[in-house]
This record gives sequence, C-alpha cells and structure tokens, in this order.
Amino acid sequence: MLALAGIPLGERFVFWGEGSDEARRASPAADVGTLFAGAYADPAAIAAFAERVDVVTYEFENVALAQAEALAARVPVYPPPRALAVSQDRFEEKTFFTRLGIPTPSFNPVDTRLELDRAAKAIGLPAVLKWRRFGYDGKGQAVLWSESDLNEAWNRLGSAPCILESFVHFEREVSIIAVRGRTGELHTYPIFENGHEGGILRTSHAPARGTTGALETRAAEYARAVAEALGYVGVLTLELFVTKDGLVANEMAPRVHNSGHLTIEGAVTSQFENHVRAVLGLPLGSTALTGYARMVNLLGRVPPIAPLLAVGARVHLYGKEPAPGRKVGHVTVCAANEDTADARTAEVLRLIA
Ligand code: AMP
Repeated sequence: MLALAGIPLGERFVFWGEGSDEARRASPAADVGTLFAGAYADPAAIAAFAERVDVVTYEFENVALAQAEALAARVPVYPPPRALAVSQDRFEEKTFFTRLGIPTPSFNPVDTRLELDRAAKAIGLPAVLKWRRFGYDGKGQAVLWSESDLNEAWNRLGSAPCILESFVHFEREVSIIAVRGRTGELHTYPIFENGHEGGILRTSHAPARGTTGALETRAAEYARAVAEALGYVGVLTLELFVTKDGLVANEMAPRVHNSGHLTIEGAVTSQFENHVRAVLGLPLGSTALTGYARMVNLLGRVPPIAPLLAVGARVHLYGKEPAPGRKVGHVTVCAANEDTADARTAEVLRLIA
C-alpha cells in the first residue's frame, strides 16, 4: 500500500524480505516493486541494499534494531531506529510514556515466577501478563482474573521476559495516527474507533463515535509528545483506551497502521501517501476526513467481491495465502452521513459472514 501511494509520486520501491525465494515471490510486495533477498543480519546484504536505495523505511516494528542502525549509517532511515527500540519492548515503551506524562496502565517487569507473585500483589488483579517483545494481535498475553490463573499464564508465557500491567476497564479502544515531516511539520488524523475480535482488529470507524474535541485534542497532544521526543519522521500510531477518567495509552506503532487503512478513501491524503511524503521530505497532505468511513478487515478467507462492490464498498485484497485469522484484505465504506455509513457497514458484515 506504501508503493501504491508512492508510485504516482514518481517513486520506485525495493522490498527486503527475509523468507525463502518462493515466500518472497508470493509476497504482495512482488507486484509493486523489486524484491531484495538477504539475511537481515548479513553486513554484505546491508551494504548491498543501501547501494540500491535513496531512503529506507519499514512498516513492521520487529525489524532488527542492529540492521536498522547499520542501514542508518549508510542511508537515511525513517522513522529513526530509536523508535524501533522503544516500541519493540513493552517495558521500554511504557517507561517512555510515563516519562512523557502520558497515562498508561501500571506495569512491572516480570522475569521469574516469584516476580510474578510480587507484581500481582503490587498491581492487583485483574491484570494482564504480556511478553515484553514480539507479541501482536493479542498473542503472547494472558489476562489474570484471580490468583488461580497465575500458574497457567506463567507456564504459557514465562519462557520469555514479560511485564505485568493493570487491567484497564475501558469504554472503547481508539487510535490516533500522526505524521511528522523532516522539517518537524506535524499533522494528526481524527481519532479512529477500533473493534477487536479475539485480539485481532476487525473494524475501524472514523470519526470515532461520541468523540469530543477535548478527547481529540488530548490524543493529538500525546501523539505530538511521542513524535517530538523521538525526532520522528513518518507515520506514527498510538493505540489508546478511552476510560471514564480519560485516555490511557496501550502501545505505539512506528508505522502505518491497520486502523488507518480507511484513510485511503476516507481522508484527503491517505496515511500511506503521507508516510511516503514524510520520508522523502515532501510537504505533507491534509489529514481531514472526507465524510464517515468504516473499515472491515477480511480475516482468514477472501469472500466473493462482486456483492461487496455492488453495495458501494471498496475492496483491497492483499494477495496473501488464506490462513485462519490472517488478514487477507480489507473493505472500506464511505458515506456523507453516519446512518448511511452504519447501514452499509452492516451490509458488508452480512456479506462477508
Ligand atoms: P495489545 O497486543 O497490547 O495491543 O493487546 C491486544 C488487545 O488486548 C487490546 O487491543 C485490548 O483489547 C486488550 N488489552 C491489552 N492490554 C490490556 C489491558 N491492560 N487491559 C485491558 N485490556 C487490554
């Protein structure tokens, strides 16, 4: 989607993926750019890749930090590798939020079973045990409702460093997407409301329902604080819980975000185009919405697309091999008013059920 946004601006793309030749050829990126092969840790591959490109970006937060830093010594890398260091480790991330005055759940690092007991006492239950690194879409985490859950959660997750964080009784989950240019120019999209199923994003709504100006302003302040502290360039996402006491930060993503896919049709400038503009040092585009937009992820299988197109939905298929729970595409509906957007979304959900 980054390449689809950047090609009309005259750019060409080289994609570095580590899998087998066959896996790389099957990658959606193969249709929109040149593929580069090489082990991420191989210094010769890093040097060869840097020779091929003018600027490097990433859309996956588990890029190896050493690789990003080695590339940054040869060619501009945006967002800055420091953003990776912060967002790859939930303990670093929450420490960073706290330092910036951004509310986040109480948290303690947990490396041993004894530390889990101590953390559960300090934080109280319910609480959520999470791997510090490599968790995503609800993987690598367990909710501890009572003391009797500690053993099983530890047996499942305790082989890797963890954090225990307090359980947030949230009303809604939202995200705020910001884009910061090389000159420090910063824009934020309106906040999006996100619905999850089994820890996986299923729907995003823009604008978020029941949004007040104060909530939006506060979310934008948090995004700005994170972006400025990191000297950030590109698109940055903050995932936030809306609680009765205000916003609480869950995590940040140093990249374009699934909740922002609706900006392709629903905003003046998509998150993908704005990210490409930012990393190239071009003026950024307006982040205003053009109406009401809803995004529905296609999970696990590709439904027949003709009925979706017939109801006015826009379809994006990623060309990925279907697998249970895998995001194989998304559908967007846009409308000038909220009722029409909701009615069309209900129709889409019926068609893909
Ligand atoms: P994460 O991988 O941290 O984004 O977590 C996946 C989902 O788990 C979130 O979107 C929430 O729905 C839920 N979740 C994560 N952390 C907490 C928490 N501290 N309290 C309540 N729910 C949480």
